[in-house]
This record gives sequence, structure tokens and C-alpha cells, in this order.
Amino acid sequence: MKGMMMHRPLKIADLIAFGAETYPASEIVSVRTEGDVHRTTYRDTYRRIAQLAHGLKGLGVGEGDRIATLAWNGYRHFELYYAISGSGAVCHTINPRLSAEQMTYIVNHARDRLLFVDTTFVPIVEKLRGQWPEDLRIVVMTDRAHMPDAELEDVLCYEDILAGQPEDFDWPDFPEDQAAGLCYTSGTTGNPKGTLYSHRSTVLHALSSCVTLPGSLREGNRILPVVPLFHVNAWGLPYSAPLSGASLIFPGGALDGKSLFDLMDREKVFSAWGVPTVWLGLMNEIRQRGRLPQGFGDLVVGGSAATRSLIEAFEERGVNVCHAWGMTEMSPLGTQCNLPQAMTDLPFNERVDRKQSQGRRVFGVEMKIVDDMGMPQPHDGKTPGHLYVRGNTVTTAYYEDPEASCNVFDAEGWFRTGDVAMIDRDGFLFITDRSKDLIKSGGEWISSLDLENIVMSHPGVANCAVIAVPDPKWDERPLLIVEAREDAQPQKEELLGLLAERVAKWQLPDDVVFVDALPLTATGKVSKLTLRQRFPAGNV
Ligand code: AMP
Repeated sequence: MKGMMMHRPLKIADLIAFGAETYPASEIVSVRTEGDVHRTTYRDTYRRIAQLAHGLKGLGVGEGDRIATLAWNGYRHFELYYAISGSGAVCHTINPRLSAEQMTYIVNHARDRLLFVDTTFVPIVEKLRGQWPEDLRIVVMTDRAHMPDAELEDVLCYEDILAGQPEDFDWPDFPEDQAAGLCYTSGTTGNPKGTLYSHRSTVLHALSSCVTLPGSLREGNRILPVVPLFHVNAWGLPYSAPLSGASLIFPGGALDGKSLFDLMDREKVFSAWGVPTVWLGLMNEIRQRGRLPQGFGDLVVGGSAATRSLIEAFEERGVNVCHAWGMTEMSPLGTQCNLPQAMTDLPFNERVDRKQSQGRRVFGVEMKIVDDMGMPQPHDGKTPGHLYVRGNTVTTAYYEDPEASCNVFDAEGWFRTGDVAMIDRDGFLFITDRSKDLIKSGGEWISSLDLENIVMSHPGVANCAVIAVPDPKWDERPLLIVEAREDAQPQKEELLGLLAERVAKWQLPDDVVFVDALPLTATGKVSKLTLRQRFPAGNV
């Protein structure tokens, strides 16, 4: 027997419509690329979103079109999120830190029709436009007075698109599984892979975030998303904040400790979200000034493992640290480590120990640990295995990439995360290793295999491997280990120079080590495990 309740499709536009109606005065504050601070409310933002949606329609944007953004965290980027997906098109956020090659691949693969770009990133567009689709139109996210003198033809101005448009919009109806957002993540080999979010997955993710993190997401709280809007939708904050009534404080491009401290202090940010590297910078500033920013009490940290010392430094100053784990492919929230009531009375050290765990699952995400043969392992807190997930906020495939998609799901449809983990009897997840051959530096991916392929093209290199070594600031940094051909003596500078032609500067290995022979596994592959044990702290 079927239930007899109404079925209304879950739609992203309803989140901001609800926020504007229920929490009209909640704020969006943005540090702008123009150099000043911009303040608005959900009510006024909703009007501009309607204007932008009319503007997009005027530019011929239709359902399913991919509309790209290349921008910092700010109110215009937020408006694009809603106007694009609310119109039935797909908001494709591009990570400006990617190499030129990766970015070009992404724009071409997604077949973007429009690209909205912050003035800061106009030089990237100038450099790469020739390699992008000819009919891709560029919109600079500023007003007429601040349009750059770019050597680009036919460039549109964001504020011109909104000017004079009606302040309400009749949002179209479509099924809730309609595509809404697209975000590419680095692959272990070759090209980045796209995760295509739906309206349904996004709204469910926002609902479960509000239920899971009620201490952070609620009316009256001011939240600072340092996690970028170009990385997994800033962990869903543009959606969960209007739903909960929380205000958003967007930091723009200045993400150093001092700038963040000043902004948080001025804006009385209560909850700040981002990767560990950013919080190390903020902690240095807190130590120098001998105090916390005013009103600060909650830190959500994820994207890489938060170290004990980082958690301890914030907790001992009275800031609640919530260590979270997730993935682009999961919208991204998977687990979070706010402690259950029974553990809040533990002695300080034990609480900090606990918070090093990635925490317990959020509603809607199931987790399992399996061995190399795919056999489920016990949740006993001591048996590690490959971590798989499933749920309504987890991807079913990579966007138009059957090859990448075919290796990451098991026979029952669970998604292989590429993380190695244990789960204890209380449901706490402990990430212990990574089976995917990637390095995560300051929250951004570096593909070992991509670097290795480039280095192998050098005639003097017989074999090579890139491994992650721990780094106090960036969490991990790449180390290149090279076995030279017998008759050759490749130099460190040559190899780094070769890499520099193809990858972004921050992706270059910090050091190059030459060895007589690389250790091999039984199957003849380079044994990275042996190398990681041999170079536990880099080239020392
Ligand atoms: P991304 O898709 O770029 O967000 O990266 C997701 C991956 O980052 C995960 O599969 C993990 O390898 C890593 N990761 C994210 N959060 C954590 C965390 N709290 N601890 C350890 N690794 C993490």
C-alpha cells in the first residue's frame, strides 16, 4: 500500500525562498575583490537572485546548460549558485588553483556555455581562452566601474546583467533528480572527474547538515566559510545556512591568519569552516595577539586529518572543534566528530583524543569497511579496511566518464572512497591511510601519477615515484624519488623545470631524492609503502 502524502520535488530555489521569507534579516557579508566589504540580507539577496535568473534567461541559458564560475567566496558567487540551478541549469564551480591543463580539460569536458569570473582570475581566462570552446561567453563578476582592461573581446559585466530586471522570478518546475551542480575532483590518473549533484541530493544534504550540526547551523550564528565555494559547494554552506537562518561571512581571497582574524573579530564570527592548514595560520595569529577573535566559539575542520596539536590548541582556548570527513563525491559530509553527551564529561586529554577521530556518520550515509577481497570487516576499532559508502548524497558515477566510474563501485553499488579506515563499536570512524595514489596539500589534491608520468618522459630517468610526506603547515607535501638510467645523471633542477612546464607551482615536489634502485612489490610495481617507511619525514 502506498502512502497518500503529497510529493513536491525537492528544489534548491526553495532553500533561499525559505531563508528570505523566514530569516529575512540574516546577513551575507562579503570581502569584495573591489577592496571593500559588502553587506546584504537574505531578503535582498533573493531579489538579486531573481534578477540574475532573468538575466541568464536573456542570455539564452536553458535547462541542463553548464554555467561555470571561477571565483572566491562572495555574495555574487552565492547568487550564481541559486540563479543557475534554480533556472534548471548546472552550476559548475571551477577550482582556480588547478593547472592550466586541468582547467582547460574541465571547461571543454563540461562544455560550459558561460563562465563567470572574479576580476582576480581574469588573467587566467586571458591566457586560456584560446583553448576553450569558441562560443563560451565570459562574464566578469563586478560592476561597470571596476571592469578590468582585459585583452578579451566580447566580455559581459555582471551588474549589467542584473540591472533593471524584475525582482521576482517564477522558478520552473522539473523533477527533483534534475542536475544542479558540477564539481570536478582530481583523479589518481589522468584527468579530473566530475561529480554531478542533483536538486534532491543537495536539499537532502542541507537538511542532514542542519540536523547534524545544530550548534553551528542556527539563526543568530555567524558562519565563516573559508572552505571555497569552488570546492564541493563550500561543504554545502550556501544551502544549509539559509535553511537554518545562520548568517554567512564570505572572506574573499585573503585567507591568511591575520586577514581572517581581523574579519572574524570585526564580524563576530561564531563558527568557522575550513581545512587544517588555514586554521594553523589563524592559530599563529591568535597566539601573537594573545586572544581569540571576538565571539569565536566553533571550528569545523575537515578536508584533511586535523592533528592532535591543532585540536588541542583551539579546545584549550574554549573553541569547540568539530572534525569532519567527507568527499566531493559525497556532497561532501560523511562523518562529524561533535562528541555525544556521554563523552562531554571526559577529562580534557581524552576528549581531545576522541576528537582526532573523524567521528560518526551523518544521517543518510552508510559506511562499511572491507578487506582486499571485499569481505566486510568488523566495526571493532582495530580492524582496518577499505572504506565504502552509500546514500542519497553519494554519487552514482562520474560525469561522462565511464572509464573512471567503472572501478569505484562494488557489486552492491557501494562507492569506494579510496580511504583506509577503522570503525569502532560506538560508530567512530578513524581514517588510517589512503589507498588512492594522491597527495593532499593544504586541502588541494596533487596526483602522484601525473607527476611521475611527466618525470618519466625525461630521457635520464629509469623509474620514479612521488610520495606524500607529512608537513606541519600543508599536512602533506610531495617528494620525488628517482632512479636514474645507468648512463645518465639527471639533475634536480632539470626535473623540477620539466614539471614546472606542466603543473601548478604549488604542486611541484618540495625535494628530489636519487636512489640506486626503487623498491618493488611482488607484482613489480614500485612499493610506495616501503618508500613511505624509508622517507617518513621527507629527505632526512
Ligand atoms: P575532496 O573530495 O577533495 O574533498 O577529498 C576527499 C578526501 O580527503 C577523502 O577521501 C580523504 O582522503 C580526505 N579527507 C577529507 N577529510 C578528511 C579528514 N577529516 N581526515 C582525513 N582525511 C580526510
